[in-house]
Amino acid sequence: MAQSNPTNPKTALLRALPSVYQLLRTSEANSLRDIVGRARITSLARIIADELRREIQENSTTKDFLQVDHEQNREALLAEAVRRLEAAGQQESLAGIRRVINATGVVLHTNLGRAPLSAAAREALREAAGYCNLEYDIPSRQRGRRGARVEDLLVELTGAEDALVVNNCAAAALLILSVLATDGETIVSRGELVEIGGDFRVPDVMASSGTQMIEVGTTNRTKLDDYRRALNERTRLLMRVHQSNYRIVGFTSAPTIAELSALAHERGLPLYEDAGSGALQDLGPYGLADEPVISESIANGADLVSFSGDKLLGACQAGLIVGRGQLVKRLRRHPLYRALRTDKLALSVLDATLESHRRGASMTEVPVLRMLSLTQSEMEARTKNFIESYRKTGATGLEISTIEGHSAIGGGSGPNTHPPTVLMAVYDTERSADELAQALRESRPPIIIRITDGKVLLDLRTVEPNEEADILKALVRLANKTS
Ligand SMILES: *Cc1c(COP(=O)(O)O)cnc(C)c1O
Repeated sequence: MAQSNPTNPKTALLRALPSVYQLLRTSEANSLRDIVGRARITSLARIIADELRREIQENSTTKDFLQVDHEQNREALLAEAVRRLEAAGQQESLAGIRRVINATGVVLHTNLGRAPLSAAAREALREAAGYCNLEYDIPSRQRGRRGARVEDLLVELTGAEDALVVNNCAAAALLILSVLATDGETIVSRGELVEIGGDFRVPDVMASSGTQMIEVGTTNRTKLDDYRRALNERTRLLMRVHQSNYRIVGFTSAPTIAELSALAHERGLPLYEDAGSGALQDLGPYGLADEPVISESIANGADLVSFSGDKLLGACQAGLIVGRGQLVKRLRRHPLYRALRTDKLALSVLDATLESHRRGASMTEVPVLRMLSLTQSEMEARTKNFIESYRKTGATGLEISTIEGHSAIGGGSGPNTHPPTVLMAVYDTERSADELAQALRESRPPIIIRITDGKVLLDLRTVEPNEEADILKALVRLANKTS
């Protein structure tokens, strides 16, 4: 016989609250246990039971769950607990690193993992995932040197005498400053004290390497004489930092690499350039005229140059160092190199990507460069094609049109470069732009877009052609829900 509710609804609900044990015995909990494990599902069940108890005590959900009798209260609360457990399990399964579709048009999107890898790099990554010949020379059965292959490719591509690979460009700067200048001074222009990605700040890297930073010149203008006047017997290094993510425009000047290296060499000192984005070829035709080309810096006398693996080079996170044999040898021998060196997965990706560069096929094979090179008319054709495919599905709930706009480089490169593109504007009669953006983020794989002037905009520049089907599916699903 069903019990009738006591007069106090709070007491009734507290009595009907499922125990952690009951919650764990549901079939939903059982299937989640296989995914997240026993310990995690138990702690999630505990958290949810506590949460429900607190809400009932605070009266916040009392009304919603109160039914006519005890049995119905129990069922309602158990159903609610199961619903929350499943949502928590869902969150949990989204927590790791997952593929997303970047429809923002920001090519080097740091929050989305910077450079997407080429097909060859993905294949190389798979190859290196198991045992591999990382430090083993197969023909001779001798121990091989880790990274030797990538170093050789870097030497070939930049004209430098030697090369070294570390964990990222910040690590490269730290290693170089620590090894070459820790007991003395490093001269740098006031116009180059950049902060990148919130964490890499030139003065901080100088400080942690132990070198004393000597700032010369002014924010907008630094002359060769400014460097010359700062030279003394404690000077160890002249440093040039690429401004990367900002530009000073107007009344500006800075000596060239050739001038700086001539001055440094007059005093028997090395010149180090932190080139950041790492263009291996002139990307001027794609609007990136300001990016230092590594081989040019070397040809102009820079003794060491460092740059990132996952910016314009289009590979993975890595700090690439090229330069004079003597200096690179000192870096390689230093204990800090052992702490900063890179792993087999990164080396395999770099190897495959640098091979594309060497073959002269980087503009077609390396995704970052391929995306950069797409013209506005190519973008227009692609976007119109996509919209045509959407129309053919017969979905009617969304209005999709094209508008002209701009993509961005991102990743601390080319702040003034905005490749013209054609965007897809998606309008939903029943959802706000924010709601639509959220629905797209919640699709599988999540689709990341941008909102400008209240419009949901998708830029196919950063979408691989084989990802378009996923976007189409997501849009049709959203359209049908509202129609
Ligand atoms: C991006 C950048 C860095 C940091 O590179 P990471 O590989 O992200 O560590 C350092 N210096 C310059 C000039 C940069 O542009």
